[in-house]
Amino acid sequence: MKKILLLFLLSFKCFAALSIEELTWENGDTLLEFLQRNSIPMSLYYSLDREDRELASEIAAKIKYQVLKDDNNNIEQILIPISDELQIHIYKNKDNQYNLTFTPVDYDKEERILTLTLENSAYQDVYKESQSSTLARAMIRSFKGSVNFRNMQKGDQITLYYEQKRRMGRLWGDITIKMASIEINKNSKEIFYFNDNYYDKNGKDIESFLLAKPIGAARISSYFTTARFHPILKRYRAHLGVDYAAPTGTPVKSAGDGTIIFVGAQSGYGNVVKIQHSSGYSTVYAHLSRFAKIKKGQKVKQGQLIAYVGSTGMSTGPHLHFGVYVNNKAINPLSVVKIAKSELKGKNKEDFIKLISQYKQIVQNHIQDNRPNPPKEEEFENYIEF
Ligand SMILES: [Zn+2]
Repeated sequence: MKKILLLFLLSFKCFAALSIEELTWENGDTLLEFLQRNSIPMSLYYSLDREDRELASEIAAKIKYQVLKDDNNNIEQILIPISDELQIHIYKNKDNQYNLTFTPVDYDKEERILTLTLENSAYQDVYKESQSSTLARAMIRSFKGSVNFRNMQKGDQITLYYEQKRRMGRLWGDITIKMASIEINKNSKEIFYFNDNYYDKNGKDIESFLLAKPIGAARISSYFTTARFHPILKRYRAHLGVDYAAPTGTPVKSAGDGTIIFVGAQSGYGNVVKIQHSSGYSTVYAHLSRFAKIKKGQKVKQGQLIAYVGSTGMSTGPHLHFGVYVNNKAINPLSVVKIAKSELKGKNKEDFIKLISQYKQIVQNHIQDNRPNPPKEEEFENYIEF
């Protein structure tokens, strides 16, 4: 991937006549319409397979994408991010024909530590200190409702050890909180990120909030990934949700209280229901066989029947595709869905204990050395704010 981006930038440098434009993806625009509008053959879309078409429908509204043009205003290359890790790359090959591939996003990772003493509220203070609403939201999400931030008072402590991505010189994508410590009335609560989930210092799952599993007993047939190299297909794939295998007709329930914002068919995902929840969360239920008696604008309760499992759209067998979004950006559903409480055991537990002692040491050194907080930066708005 380094090579591709380098090519992208090099060709820009070598030929002064080339120019890069940064544009914003319009709400509701589709890849197919985009290709048509830019006189790029629509066959690029039609030759995509099932999963890639599904992915192509995941381009988030308001995301920034780059277009490289020659001096005659002809499009040479386009980069459209699909997730933090993966992007669509459209380019002209040697024969001057357009090609489309999915390639990893090239970015750097920075480890950062932010500490503060509470003045107003946890969210406000973290935002004020970092200028990053992404960080403030990631903090709230990481505790999964296991602390009541409203109980925090002036003088309480917050420490966040996190990973920030940077792309083309700017902040990029979501933030992963690796360790967070919050002190409320001299009681401290720590959480640690391990294997896609948050645990307390004893390796016990953090109690989850907001969302419940949308389906009864069902096996997970595909997990969430923002980019994974497929060893047989020899190319990159992403899956921005969790698939639950279940027979056609199995009831699908709303994962949380919310408002129905979409009921209908969508390319790739077939019959789809979308629900808006509080705090910028929304959920998507796809490949449904049919809908329950619901309509757009209707309020629903957690656990309320909304539809039935099916195999509509680009699907090889009956399953529920369940997606969770924060401000239109896909996150791992299993990181916010309530699951039976579990505890790390055996080798996992050993690895976990090693990891958290490292994290604690890093944070302790930082605090002892009195190192400053990361610089405030202009946030890279790569998705819509509600
Ligand atoms: Zn899926």
